[in-house]
Amino acid sequence: MTDVDIFISGGGVAGLTAAAAFGAAGFSVVIADPAPPITDASTEGADLRTTAFLQPARDFLDRAGLWPRLVAHATPLQVMRIVDAGGAEPIPRVTKDFNAADISDLPFGWNLPNWLLRREMVARIAELPNVDFRSGVGFKSMLTRTAHARVTLTDGTSLTTRLVIGADGRGSPVRQAAGIDAQTTRYGQKAVTFAVTHAAPHDNISTEVHRSGGPFTLVPLPDHEGKPCSAVVWMEDGAEATRLAALSEDDFNAEATARSAGVNGDLTLASRRMVWPIISQTADALTAERTALVAEAAHVMPPIGAQGLNMSLADLAALLDLAEADRDGLGGTAMLDAYARKRHTDIRLRVKGIDLLNRASQAENPLLRDLRAKGVEALYGLTPLRKQIMKLGLGAKG
Ligand SMILES: Cc1cc2nc3c(=O)[nH]c(=O)nc-3n(C[C@H](O)[C@H](O)[C@H](O)COP(=O)(O)OP(=O)(O)OC[C@H]3O[C@@H](n4cnc5c(N)ncnc54)[C@H](O)[C@@H]3O)c2cc1C
Repeated sequence: MTDVDIFISGGGVAGLTAAAAFGAAGFSVVIADPAPPITDASTEGADLRTTAFLQPARDFLDRAGLWPRLVAHATPLQVMRIVDAGGAEPIPRVTKDFNAADISDLPFGWNLPNWLLRREMVARIAELPNVDFRSGVGFKSMLTRTAHARVTLTDGTSLTTRLVIGADGRGSPVRQAAGIDAQTTRYGQKAVTFAVTHAAPHDNISTEVHRSGGPFTLVPLPDHEGKPCSAVVWMEDGAEATRLAALSEDDFNAEATARSAGVNGDLTLASRRMVWPIISQTADALTAERTALVAEAAHVMPPIGAQGLNMSLADLAALLDLAEADRDGLGGTAMLDAYARKRHTDIRLRVKGIDLLNRASQAENPLLRDLRAKGVEALYGLTPLRKQIMKLGLGAKG
């Protein structure tokens, strides 16, 4: 039986960041994940999505000792461009730029491939003698008491810990073991994710094109084989997404270029295509005895406005602040109650906000699409409101 300060279930990007952050802060950590991390883009099953880290998330990655490893691979996002192409023809009819320079000296965020994040995070954890990464082993069950939790892993070993962090994804086994339910909204949508090269440079502009079915988002990446390159998240009705993913490359390139309204010129696939189901989900509670839920174990939302993992890092920052403020109180009721209070409202508001944006973006009806375009224009025209919304998007309190 091992005794550790913290047990983390889940070695996705959130769990690995948690291990690096709590490890760097001097806590002893065991982290377990049944699926070994894939740290190479060409390996089957590699996560080819990218994550746009907003400013506060970058600060947290720095605190975890991760940012120095990542900065050389990160593409800055200076401008967020919203394009409405919801008219009769798929061409831009409203284009509005939200420039980070209006509110800060820094870019909005930095884009990084998920497989590379895993590679660098695993390397960082290996530098920390107080972090024990059990790859290929999962969380099986737990028994909690007032003073500690006893966790059993799938290899039959067990450990006692003061705090269990559930970072084990949308179907979280820790959430289930803690008896916490979750409320799920299904949109009938899927996201096709892939990388493209294109004729026109992206100029560090992230562009979200709205027509129907959901947004088509291009996020800047470093050049690929000497050509400008972007990561794409293309959200569509589920059947349509499945059809798109099965098209020949030439047909897919043609449809993707048309759907992008030509904003970056002709698009050419530069990676495999992957398909992800889109849901919204919130756990009924963020904590239980000796247990805290973070990231997708606590909240899932459609990939709009780069909120998902950025909220997850806000969960971790809140948890780490509380743990460092009272090390003896780690995992106790006072700390967990404070964590729930700190995160509850922000999570509810952001999940609801992204749900509304997604529904507006799905609109098929031309009248609703016109209303959406007018909404973007009206919002943009009100400078103080526009700046406030940009700050909220970055994670500022409302
Ligand atoms: C298409 C798409 C694009 C996105 N883009 C962005 C973006 O630009 N910016 C952003 O902030 N967010 C983005 N998101 C959201 C972001 O990807 C997720 O928030 C993030 O990947 C979830 O990370 P996670 O670590 O919580 O979950 P996961 O990545 O699902 O990790 C959970 C881990 O738990 C493990 N696990 C399962 N069972 C067990 C067990 N019994 N014991 C231990 N471990 C277990 C799994 O193997 C897995 O490794 C996007 C999401 C999608 C779908």
